[in-house]
Amino acid sequence: MSSPALDDISAEQSGELLRLVLPLMSKHQVPITPQNYAVWFDFVRGNNPEMKAEMQQLVDAGAAFTEKLNEQLFEKYKSECDTRHFAKIRGEMSELMDDLSDSLQHAGSQAQQFGGHLDGVVENVEQSSSMEDIKVLLTSLVEETRTMRKSTQLLHEHLEAKSREIVLLQEELEQERKRASTDPLTGLANRRAFTDALIRSCNDVDAPEGLSLIMIDIDHFKQINDAHGHLIGDRVIRFLAQVLQQNTKGKDLAARFGGEEFVVMLSATGLRGAEAVAESIRKAVAEAKLVRADNKQPLGQITVSLGVATYHPGEDPLEAVNRSDQAMYHSKQSGRNRVTVDSDLSDISEGIL
Ligand code: GH3
Ligand code: MG
Ligand code: MG
Repeated sequence: MSSPALDDISAEQSGELLRLVLPLMSKHQVPITPQNYAVWFDFVRGNNPEMKAEMQQLVDAGAAFTEKLNEQLFEKYKSECDTRHFAKIRGEMSELMDDLSDSLQHAGSQAQQFGGHLDGVVENVEQSSSMEDIKVLLTSLVEETRTMRKSTQLLHEHLEAKSREIVLLQEELEQERKRASTDPLTGLANRRAFTDALIRSCNDVDAPEGLSLIMIDIDHFKQINDAHGHLIGDRVIRFLAQVLQQNTKGKDLAARFGGEEFVVMLSATGLRGAEAVAESIRKAVAEAKLVRADNKQPLGQITVSLGVATYHPGEDPLEAVNRSDQAMYHSKQSGRNRVTVDSDLSDISEGIL
């Protein structure tokens, strides 16, 4: 008696049988090997009455399906059994895994890791010799899928929260950086930011030649404070900051150096160019007609004294600041409301007029 060829069974039938065979084998603790599976598949299918009767008897008697008994059953009925069926399922399963693995390879990196896991499963399926092995693999696959879904979701949420945190931190950092380098009254760079920028510019080997400084100090500022109060004094300081901003451009940097002292760094500018800028600053301040906003009372002429110096490559950048300061003091001593250029100063000290 021979069982019909495997091809005679529809995929649906074969699926149904599979669902019956595996639990039954598992109930009777029969290892799911290709041979055992072939025997039990045929038993459930019931095409061989002799075999069906013998198996039913064993099952009803609660026989122990030992390795020996299983072997005997296979030997006895092997001509009736079709182990190809098992091979077919195994092949289909491999295809399914391949498919799943392929589609996951296109997903995100986490899914790709999972895809890698699937590749491992596919390999194992191909090497597996028993249905039990495949069952174990499927269970691990289901668990892996569940874990992956959960962990990608958690990872996603975690990354979202982290990137929001990072954006906030970056904004805070940027605000802090600005706060630390800005003078709150005028919005200009403060002394520290200026010194940093100056040192950076002086050490920049690619910088275009010529870097000059203008030191500016408000003349008799104490009198302005005394006559109009500190608040008006503050406004004068802010006014001067505006004049400096209007006279600087691009890479130039205007900074509040302290109290009523300011400094301007001019890049790619020699002494004479810097002198011209200093002169236009002086003029703009001296010609401004400032009035108090509250009582429209004129403040009278405000003037500044300025000193110009240029950076000598190789020297300490703060030396150039010093020279511009000395030039500014020279302007004070010579009557205020004027510009002194550092080289003129050395010419004078060397007796060259
Ligand atoms: P000189 O022409 O020699 O520079 O005389 P000066 O009065 O400008 O110089 P002095 O150093 O004697 O006085 C500077 C004054 O500037 C004293 C200080 O109270 C005032 N001052 C410094 N910082 C501020 C500020 O932020 N706001 C106001 N309103 N006054 C300030
Ligand atoms: Mg002053
Ligand atoms: Mg001063």
